[in-house]
Amino acid sequence: MKMERKHSLSMKLLRVVLLSALAIGIVLSLGQIIFDVAKTRQLVASDAQRILGMFRDPSTQAVYSLDREMGMQVIEGLFQHDSVSYARIGNPDEPPLAEKNRPLQDSATRWITDGLLGQKQTFGIELSGRGPYSEHFGDLTITLDTAPYGRDFLSNALVIFTSGILRSLAMGLLLYLVYYLLLTKPLSKIVEHLSNINPDRPGEHKLPMIKGHDKNELGLWINTANQLLSSIERNAALRNEAENSLQRMAQYDFLTGLPNRKQLQDQLGQILVDAGRMHHRVAVLCVGLDDFKSINEQFGYQIGDYLLQALADRLRCHSGRLGALARLGGDQFALVQPNIEQTYEAAELAQLILDDLEKAFPLEHREVRLRATIGITLFPEDGDTSEKLLQKAEQTMTLAKSRSRNRYQFFIASLDAEMRRRRELEKHLREALPRNELHLVYQPQIDYRTQRVVGVEALIRWEHPEHGFISPDLFIPLAEQNGSIIVIGEWVLSQACKQLREWHDQGFSGLRMAVNLSTVQLRHPELPRIVNNLMQMYRLPAKSLEVEITETGLMEDVSTSSQNLLSLRHSGALIAIDDFGTGYSSLSYLKSLPLDKIKIDKSFVQQITEHDDDATIVRAIIQLAKNLKMQVIAEGVENAEQEAYIINEGCDEGQGYFYSKPLPAHEMALFLKRSRMLAEHPSSA
Ligand code: C2E
Ligand code: MG
Ligand code: MG
Repeated sequence: MKMERKHSLSMKLLRVVLLSALAIGIVLSLGQIIFDVAKTRQLVASDAQRILGMFRDPSTQAVYSLDREMGMQVIEGLFQHDSVSYARIGNPDEPPLAEKNRPLQDSATRWITDGLLGQKQTFGIELSGRGPYSEHFGDLTITLDTAPYGRDFLSNALVIFTSGILRSLAMGLLLYLVYYLLLTKPLSKIVEHLSNINPDRPGEHKLPMIKGHDKNELGLWINTANQLLSSIERNAALRNEAENSLQRMAQYDFLTGLPNRKQLQDQLGQILVDAGRMHHRVAVLCVGLDDFKSINEQFGYQIGDYLLQALADRLRCHSGRLGALARLGGDQFALVQPNIEQTYEAAELAQLILDDLEKAFPLEHREVRLRATIGITLFPEDGDTSEKLLQKAEQTMTLAKSRSRNRYQFFIASLDAEMRRRRELEKHLREALPRNELHLVYQPQIDYRTQRVVGVEALIRWEHPEHGFISPDLFIPLAEQNGSIIVIGEWVLSQACKQLREWHDQGFSGLRMAVNLSTVQLRHPELPRIVNNLMQMYRLPAKSLEVEITETGLMEDVSTSSQNLLSLRHSGALIAIDDFGTGYSSLSYLKSLPLDKIKIDKSFVQQITEHDDDATIVRAIIQLAKNLKMQVIAEGVENAEQEAYIINEGCDEGQGYFYSKPLPAHEMALFLKRSRMLAEHPSSA
């Protein structure tokens, strides 16, 4: 930025200093001149006195002796003085003894000086004899012309005036120079440096210290400005850093450092554009960990986080063949495999990842193996946008998980249709209860010691007006998802309790009712109160109500579950762990939870005779229950061989089609009567 010189500080100062110096010079000179006027007036008077003094004696002589000639000589002598214009000797009352007059001098400066000094001035002395007789003889009078004094005065005044002004001008100029050197020049230098500073990197160049100014205000100014510039730079750097990390946070997952869903969508979008142009296929794999919740439960969230990071690292090992890798949130990850030619390449990658996860993750004192389920979609077959492909891959993964885990599944249009159907069902489910579409059926449980029906399990049924019978295996998970399980579960409990009361009243007083509870219900804080109320309302004796909770559900959230189980037990309910063997129960949990009964999952029971493994598992579970002092019941007993095996192994109770399919209440009542009769009169069988 250039500045016009006339606007510079030093020019302004020059103007101000010069004008004020001039004014002061003029005032001082005028003062001196005025003083000079007074001095000149004095000079005229003292000159007059001196002249008069010089001629006093001859004049006295002349007037004393009335010597006119001598008087004239004295007068002539007086006229030798340039300034004398009139002289007179004599008595004032008489004609003069001698007198002379000459015209006033013609001087060009009279017009100025006459005003100040007067045109002429008259002085006189008395002429008298010397003591002891001091007789008065007459006067000597002279008139002095002021012109010669005026000329001297004027030339003096001129010198005073010009020198005064010149002195002021010189001082002003000197001041300007000093000011320019000390202030304006260094300031212009600073301004020049300032204008060279890069606003993006203000701390990059420091303002140089100006020589000789390091300790004065300028130096202070430069130092302060430098500090300011570096703190601006520091702040800007901090802000940049914050902006960058904000951007990172918006695009990357904090825990694993992998791109997040948003970033993945952008990347996948770009991959799809390229693939579309080159006519390549792309696979999107959505990896969801199986039972990660229970891992968090068992090992704590810190280990859970560590495992997610370790898992992310394992997935990164495949990044050579990946176009993108991201964490979708929770325990879900997504991989994009670009440029595949055959579908099996995606299957290969999926299997590789599953195998990879099964390799143990070492923890401090033990190791963990992870399992996952993978949903796969293909571009362009299954969708042409990143949203569609991702959504369907996630859907496929979720659906695959609900069937069986630790596998991969390609998106299939029929599965998509099933997903839609599920959503539609979910909607209908909310209406099912008010529309009376739900009812309970009951399946007997046999005590092997007495061969009597000791209990029944209440199982829910849904008769959909259009789709007919819908399996609870299908709609219970839906009800759990949309929360309607709370209302439905409460209804089941009250129906079952009411039914049990009826049967007790009909004479089956020892009968026990088993009711399935979802984990969502188990976590509901009102559950113990509801159970308690129902048992009181229907006057059910303690241990006549048994709640069944699936093993996997129980392990999802052990701490809350164990709290509510305790409260339930206080209400007098028995607690059974359902589908035992399908989850990953740890023995320590089994010991610590308030459980009364283990229910062996039907999948093992049904294979007893075919698979040695299953027979071994069943035997082990029965042993385990015995050791833990728990009752054990086998479900899904379909034939005599299965029954024989479990009885032989010491199983307490059994339930299955071998005894009866689940029956509506009135049929169950008949069944109970018949079996009571059989027990009382075995011969009538
Ligand atoms: P679950 O509690 O393990 O119930 C046993 C399931 O096995 C029942 O299926 C029953 O009909 C079936 N079953 C019994 N004996 C045999 C047999 O000998 N062979 C075979 N193949 N199956 C047999 P269902 O009624 O379809 O119920 C399925 C699951 O739905 C139940 O498994 C339970 O987890 C859940 N469920 C049923 N009713 C309710 C309910 O009221 N509330 C809750 N939360 N869940 C329920
Ligand atoms: Mg059950
Ligand atoms: Mg079961």
